[in-house]
Parts: sequence; C-alpha cells; structure tokens
Amino acid sequence: MTDDRRAVTPVDPARGTRHGLGIDQVSLETGFWKILQDANSTGTLRHCIDWMERLGWLANFDRVAAGTMDENRPGWQFSDSEVYKLLEALAWEYGRTRDTEIDEIFESLVDRVAAAEDDDGYLNTCFGHPGRPERYSDLSMGHELYCAGHLLQAVVARLRTKGEDRFVALGRRVADHVLREFGPEGRDGVCGHPEIEVALAEFARATGETRYRDQAQLFVERRGHGTLTPIPLLSREYFQDEVPVRDTESWHGHAVRALYLAAGAVDIAVDAGDAELLGALEDQWHHTVARRTYLTGGMGSRHQDEGFGEDWELPTDRAYCETCAGVASLMVSWRLYLATGRSEYVDLMERTLFNVIATSPSPDGTAFFYANPLQQRSESSDVLPDAVNSRAEGGVRAPWFDVSCCPTNLARTLASWQSYSAAVDAGNDDEGDVAVVLQYAAGQYRFELSSGLLRVQVHTEYPHASEVLLKVHDAPPGGAPLRLRVPSWAIDAQVSVNAGPAEPIEPGWCDLRQPVFEGDEIRLVLPVEPRLTWPDPRIDAMRGTVAVERGPLVLCIESHDVPGGISLDSITLDTSASLKTEGDGARGRARVLDVVGPADGTPPFGRAPSGRTTSEDFDLIFVPYHRWAERGPSTMRVFVPVAPHVRLSREDPSAVNVEGPTDEP
Ligand SMILES: [Zn+2]
Repeated sequence: MTDDRRAVTPVDPARGTRHGLGIDQVSLETGFWKILQDANSTGTLRHCIDWMERLGWLANFDRVAAGTMDENRPGWQFSDSEVYKLLEALAWEYGRTRDTEIDEIFESLVDRVAAAEDDDGYLNTCFGHPGRPERYSDLSMGHELYCAGHLLQAVVARLRTKGEDRFVALGRRVADHVLREFGPEGRDGVCGHPEIEVALAEFARATGETRYRDQAQLFVERRGHGTLTPIPLLSREYFQDEVPVRDTESWHGHAVRALYLAAGAVDIAVDAGDAELLGALEDQWHHTVARRTYLTGGMGSRHQDEGFGEDWELPTDRAYCETCAGVASLMVSWRLYLATGRSEYVDLMERTLFNVIATSPSPDGTAFFYANPLQQRSESSDVLPDAVNSRAEGGVRAPWFDVSCCPTNLARTLASWQSYSAAVDAGNDDEGDVAVVLQYAAGQYRFELSSGLLRVQVHTEYPHASEVLLKVHDAPPGGAPLRLRVPSWAIDAQVSVNAGPAEPIEPGWCDLRQPVFEGDEIRLVLPVEPRLTWPDPRIDAMRGTVAVERGPLVLCIESHDVPGGISLDSITLDTSASLKTEGDGARGRARVLDVVGPADGTPPFGRAPSGRTTSEDFDLIFVPYHRWAERGPSTMRVFVPVAPHVRLSREDPSAVNVEGPTDEP
C-alpha cells in the first residue's frame, strides 16, 4: 500500500497487508446503521455539547485560559476527555459529511481548548493551576495522560480528515510534552487509566514520527510492575499493573482500562513486528471471549470495579457490560482482524455493534445506557430527562451521567462506523488486492485496489432480512477478487453469482471462485430465522436457561409483551415448540411455572420444586435486545428458563417423571 492510498480511518497500521476502508469510501443509504448514524448526527453531537456547557466542563478551559481556575472545579478529573472524544466525533463527522456547520462547531471548541494550553505543551484543566493539585501528582487516578490520549485521538481524526492545522500543531506540542516528561530519561510512571498508549501509537502512524510509537511501547512495557498506588477496595489488578501485558493470560480488572491497553499493545506488536506480544494478545482475546464475555458481546461482570469477573462469572442481572467496554472491545478486535485476517474478530465486532453499541442510545440519540445488563428484575422509575444520572442505574436510558464517558464514546464510534465495515487485503501475491466486505449494510462500498477501482452497491434489509445483494458497478479491467464474511451463526448460508446455482458456504470467509466484473450480481443469503442459543453449563448464573437470537441480534422478553399479570420471573420457554419470526423479533411458546415456594419469612430453599405449570401455553414475544426499554420502564430478560420436560403421573399428580421432551404439560 502506498501512502497516497492511506485510508481515512481511526486505525491505519504501519505494517501488515490489510487496511480498513476509509469513512469516505463507504456511504450508508438506508437501514440499521444509517438510522443510528443519523441519530448521532442530529441528536447526540449537539446533546453532548449542551450538557458539557451546562455542567461547566467546557468552561473549565475558559477559566484556565483566564487564570481564574481554583479549587472549585466542576466535573471529575477526567472531564476534559469528554470534550476531546466529542472533538474526535466531530472530526469524523466532518470528514464523512463535509458539513461546514460541523466544522464551525469543531473550530469553536478548539478555540476554547487551545486557549488553556500551557507554554510547555501541558494541557489539563484539573491539575497544575492555582488551587489545583500539582501536575502528575496522582498518576493512579489523575487521568492526565488518559486525557492527553483522547486529545491525540481527536488530533489524528483531524489530521486524516482535514490535514495540518492549529489543532494538529497543538497535538504535537501535547505529545512532545508527554515524551519529555515520561521518556526514557523522565518519570518512570504510567497512567492509571490506559489510553495514551493506543493514542500515541496512532499519532505516530498519522505523523510518520516513530518516536511517539517508542513512547507508547515504553508505556506498555512499563506497566505491570506495580508502580501505581492501589486505591482502597481495589487491587493493582484494577489498573492492569500487577502483571506485564505480555505475561497476561486473560483480561482482568477494570474492563475499559484492560481493553484500551490491549488495543495499544496490538498496535505496538504490529508496528514493531513483535510476534510474541501479538500472540499473547490473541490468546488473551480467545480466553476472555470464551469465558468472560456475554452473549451480547458485553464485557465486565462486576459493578464494584467495572471489571471482568472470573471465568464463567457472568451474572445476567448484575452484568455491567459498560457501553465504553463495548467500544473498547471493538477497538481491540478491529486491530486483531487487521493484524491476522481472522474472521472471529469481526464476528465479535458484529455481535458487539448490534447488541451493545446499538443498545445504548435512544432512537433520537439523546439518552443512553451506561451499563447493559441482560436482565432487569424490577421496573426502574423513569429518569428525569433533565438530570444527571448515576452511571449504572439500570432500566432506563438517561440523558447524561455523573461519569459521562459513554455518550461521547458512542458519538465517535458511530461517526466513524464506515471504517469498520470493509477492508482491502493485499496478503495474497497471486491475486493482488482482495476486497473484503465485513459488515453488511445498504449503501456503496468503494475499494481502491492496486488494480483499480471496485465499486459495489449493496442492497439489503439485513439484519432483519436474510438476503444481501451486491451489485458490481465498477471493476478493474481484469476483475477483482471479492471476499465476504459469513458470520459464525450463519449455518445454511448460501451464495450465488449472476443468478447461478446457490452454493452452500461455511461460516468464516467466502472467497468467490472468480474475480468480479462490472455488472456482476452476487446474492448472499445469511438466514436470520430465530434460533435457540444455549449457555455453556459452566456459567452457573445461566444454567437451565436459553436465549433466542435472530441473525446477529440477541433477543429478549419484556414485560410490555407478556399477558397481564404474569411475572417474567415465572415464565419458562418450551424449547420443543418451534420459534417463529415476529417482526424484527420472534415468537415462541411459554408456560408459567409453579413457583410457589416456602411461606414469607422462610428462606427461599427447600424441597424439590413441583415442576408443575400453572397456565395454558401462551405465545411469548421476543424483541431485539437493543430496543429494550424504548417503550418505557419494563422488566426484561435475555436468558429464559427452559420449561421442564415433565409428565405428571396419572395416578399421582405430584409425582414427576423427567422423561425428555413432551408436548404434554
Ligand atoms: Zn463509559
């Protein structure tokens, strides 16, 4: 790949044979992601600015510039980072749309941020000013380098979408300051919240200056040697500071920290050609995904430290699954795909996109889930549309949070969705560049291959319909190799070319046998009929339950759809009855289980349950999990207990024979 074909994307490895398409090379026209991206454009971006203005997080920059900052500073110590993540979102938004109004908003924010920069390139509104703590006096929880990292990611977005300007120059001064302070001759420290690593690595790629990558590498290698001071109730594991990255077996501690660190470490491994480190990170991904990840792709089982649990520790009702951990998981998986070309990384991205990223925002993009549990036991009282919410209060999307990392993280991710949807793989010398479609959405994909332009128009209602039609509008004279991702759930998938016979294809990669030419039509069928998905029996919290999925969508049941008076606690799904498609969800058959237990005042334990049902079978509606609570507060569950396959003895109605599936209650 030559420099003039560098893609406009958040991640552009310096080495390797794959690169993602730029945000300007894929245009969404209709459908699922177009709707979310539009809500981000029309709702979330300005909503975030309004809240940060209202809470004084933006005014913190003005006060530093005016020399009036003092001990009373609104916002957490990391609130600057929300401004930077929003700047990153605006930069991608402008790069994608060339909307001058977005650019004006961007510039007006840069005016205020830039005015707060110190002469030596230090930029932070919380530390190093009169009445404030000294610079770098609290590396464990101060988040100064974390904030600088988010600033640099915004600078990378600006550099790649508009080019050198005063904001990019500001970024260079901030990065140079970090190198002076924390370089080999500087402070022997790391930031309690990783982020500077992944930011400096990409900043090095964007500027072509490898000293920034060297600093990122230094931060990665320094970590895990106990330099951070643990805070009460949390161990060094919280910061990933108890074991070096390359010796880690599984992700642990605070989920967003662990995943941002891993993303930066993948960048270092790739650009430095460190196969051992890359292998360790791949192993960590596989261990974590196999034992510490929810069906939704959500990561983080614990509220207390917003952290990963032990293997198989995956409670549904207390699942944390922070939206930011979903963003961070995308960051890691995308980098691992680019590094290895393996489809499982993109599969997890699709799962996380549809079931964590898409779940968080309200349809208008002005309220959000912070935590994404898989079960809501009680209807949450509706949150006030005008108030700051506690971060993990489940049940209703809230407009803003005390710690409000998730809305701006969503904003930058949705603004750059295109960059994760397709790639060019130059890994095969025989056939030249291969065009790879990774995520299916209605719109146009432009692949700039070494052999010429390949333009593919995609028509689909995926994920609500099975068919994806790809029409080739332009192709290089000799045709172009095309590779399609077949999701791991898509058994019975088929492909046909130009109305030829449909051929069965396996999950993974589908490489078309022949190069594609202008006028070719490829029909891909990814059956999205509802299906049962069973948890590993080692997940205690899900044993005896089952979930329903439809294509890439995890479904759930919600109290809105259940016949009056029936509690979700007592519903069981008859897994011997077939599931039917119902709108964008599914319909199954359910029974109410006799859950009359010991009398009040006695512990909820005792003799074996009767296994009796107390209702006629009824239809149970499953809706996409990403839509839950859109109709108001509800109870909800993804994993539903399986109806016991029991037959009551004719002689003794209380005797229960477990004899395998039967239709009789
Ligand atoms: Zn968050």
